[in-house]
Amino acid sequence: MTNHRDVWVFIEQEMGGVAAVSLELLSKAKDLSAALNSRVCALLCGHEVAHLTERLIQHGADHVMLADCPELAEYRTLPYARVAIDLVRERRPYIFLLGATPVGRDLAPRIASAVRAGLTADCTSLEIGDFERGGRTYKDLLYQIRPAFGGNVIATIVNPEMHPQMATVREGVMRLDEPDPTRTGTVERIEPRFQKGDMALQVLKREIRTPECDLKHADIIVAGGMGVGSRENFKLIYELAHVLGAEVGASRAAVDAGFISHEHQVGQTGVTVRPRLYIAVGISGSVQHRAGMDQSGKIIAINNDPNAPIFQIAHYRIVGDLNEVVPRMIRAYRDNAK
Ligand code: FAD
Repeated sequence: MTNHRDVWVFIEQEMGGVAAVSLELLSKAKDLSAALNSRVCALLCGHEVAHLTERLIQHGADHVMLADCPELAEYRTLPYARVAIDLVRERRPYIFLLGATPVGRDLAPRIASAVRAGLTADCTSLEIGDFERGGRTYKDLLYQIRPAFGGNVIATIVNPEMHPQMATVREGVMRLDEPDPTRTGTVERIEPRFQKGDMALQVLKREIRTPECDLKHADIIVAGGMGVGSRENFKLIYELAHVLGAEVGASRAAVDAGFISHEHQVGQTGVTVRPRLYIAVGISGSVQHRAGMDQSGKIIAINNDPNAPIFQIAHYRIVGDLNEVVPRMIRAYRDNAK
């Protein structure tokens, strides 16, 4: 049974687990479907992934559409898109959410263009609300909210006519609710109808690189910016991070200057972080850098400019030259740890 107000979530799975962003989207979909009085439907594609359906239900899915076959063992654009597009055409969900991951960014525009739906990338907030145009009121649309024009405005985007209303959201942006083992839901097996050209791409070999750092789950982050001055001087940031047992982050300017690799970038076009402690060293604190950081614990900022914007959000402000302040912090921590 389909409901024309259903909220769908595309579930990303990899090596036997569900991607965190998909669980976060289920949490958000629960809120949206409550406002719409509809259901949360999860679309799970893969091979031998039926054991994941229970987890999806516990995290908020009322109904799981399970496409489980060898052709879907690894992510490939055409077979995955075939399954999603056929289902969307047949059932016309009201909302369809995907993670803003490499897979989601590949799949979402394909689905949207095939079914002629609107799509907003990298939303930072999603809400249900009304929209008026030309004397007509469109009830209960999806407000797709995201920074625009270099972060200078927060835009609310709506698709009044063309549904599903599609959006991608990056990992770590939406709250992840605890699973509820008492929740119940239904599982429906989907039989994909692949076409000949769908299998044009063969995966011959996969290589998975272990990431250098895990900013997303870090409790403490020490991040360096342009003020650090050079790749060589970033060793100060690494040293402070080391004594604190922290991950190393960076501003985009520091990444662009080649001080450190992109994996360490914090912010709108990097990783959204929510550590318990964030130490910003030589970082001015642009809106793009701070994107999503509002739910962090304490922020310590070290900057030689007392008017640096980072001080507006910092809980502890240290005005001074980082080349003096950071070595003193390292010494103090080592002395106290003895
Ligand atoms: P700067 O702005 O140059 O600041 C350096 C700071 O170091 C200054 O405040 C200075 O007072 C201080 N300083 C200098 N020397 C010392 C010293 N010796 N001791 C102490 N302090 C010192 N940025 C991000 O970080 N992440 C993103 O994801 C991101 N995405 C973006 C997306 C878009 C669409 C756009 C347009 C921009 C984005 N940016 C992003 C860039 C952002 O706007 C800023 O340009 C960038 O964050 C600035 O980095 P910074 O603070 O390291 O450098």
